[in-house]
Amino acid sequence: MVSLREVSVWLRLFSAMAFMLCSACAEHARPARSSPAANTARLAQLPTAATVTPTPQVDTAPPLDDSGESDTDAEDADTADLPATPDARIVPHPLDGWSEERVDRAVSSDLASLGPMSVGTPNAGALVNGVQAVASALYTLVSPGDAWGTQETLDYLNSAVQAVQDEFPNTPPLALGDIGARHGGPLRPHISHQAGRDLDLSFYYRDGTRWYARGTRQNLDFPRLWALVRALIAKTDVDLILLDRGLQQPLHEYALSIGEDPGWLEQVFIGKGAMRAIIHHAPGHDTHLHIRFFNPIAQETARRCYAALARHGQVKAPEQYVLHKAKKNETLAMIAKKYGTSVRAIREANALRRNLIREQAVYRVPVSGGARMLHLERARIPARRPPPPRHPPSALNEQLSAREQK
Ligand SMILES: [Zn+2]
Repeated sequence: MVSLREVSVWLRLFSAMAFMLCSACAEHARPARSSPAANTARLAQLPTAATVTPTPQVDTAPPLDDSGESDTDAEDADTADLPATPDARIVPHPLDGWSEERVDRAVSSDLASLGPMSVGTPNAGALVNGVQAVASALYTLVSPGDAWGTQETLDYLNSAVQAVQDEFPNTPPLALGDIGARHGGPLRPHISHQAGRDLDLSFYYRDGTRWYARGTRQNLDFPRLWALVRALIAKTDVDLILLDRGLQQPLHEYALSIGEDPGWLEQVFIGKGAMRAIIHHAPGHDTHLHIRFFNPIAQETARRCYAALARHGQVKAPEQYVLHKAKKNETLAMIAKKYGTSVRAIREANALRRNLIREQAVYRVPVSGGARMLHLERARIPARRPPPPRHPPSALNEQLSAREQK
């Protein structure tokens, strides 16, 4: 039996470490290895998409790892879980009108013909028919082996970076960090980057291209950085941009100084009414931008094909459990840490009403690694929010002085 005092000490310790976890946690979050035979057996039992139950949300603290990647739960939440904005739209899709049989046949006999699929969520996902980024005049690749995404993600990235090049000719290429693994899923040291829709991108610096250099008011090239952010919002289905709070402020100030509409900027940086912010703070994001896109096509293809993908063993089961026998003095927090899951998830999996566990008792521990398909309905893609025309400098100055007088 584990004492209450020990449990509470561990819990306190655990919450204190919320923002200090090491990269080992990211490693623990990887799926436990199991035999191919066991995997096949599990896949055979997979429910169809219509009956898939979501895996309990993992609520472990965000690991602050050596890459500085530390997308917090809030920022890393699947944003499609949020209530759709009033103007969210349904985008026509190539598989509209296809029967289940036709989809199943395509998945089993000609998977490539279906194009890229962004399966599950950014934190529990997979990538099918991924496309590898190619170095170009727009960017160099930091790690080509982990630069797999969907075509939409790459197209959106290219169009936004190209817009900067058009506005500022002779801009040196950026550095493109990780997008995802070839088949998506967990990628050290990130939590997200699992479904082909996330990527890390260098800032524009005044003194040329650098990778993972800390950005400051002094060394960042705000005209180019703003042109990139503006193009992402105007030209793509960007979902969110993670940027350290300390850098958001000078970027916001710069945008105001060139006459961008203050109300629109407020939507973008802070959120307004039903319009959530696009730029979010996340610790560790003062060295690079983390950009996530909606993929109207690849997300819907994945949703339509999910049951067939599972039937044919193309994606892993969303829920996987390992059995763990509690050792002397072991706590739920220790077990959660060991398997990269959360106390809450273990409690839910074992219908435990409290955090107390018994020595030698066997518990089911949910482990991450499968693609979690939350959406049984078609994802609604928020309408784009193109910037209104810039204000002439005189009008801007009047607004700024009006703001100061307030
Ligand atoms: Zn990232």
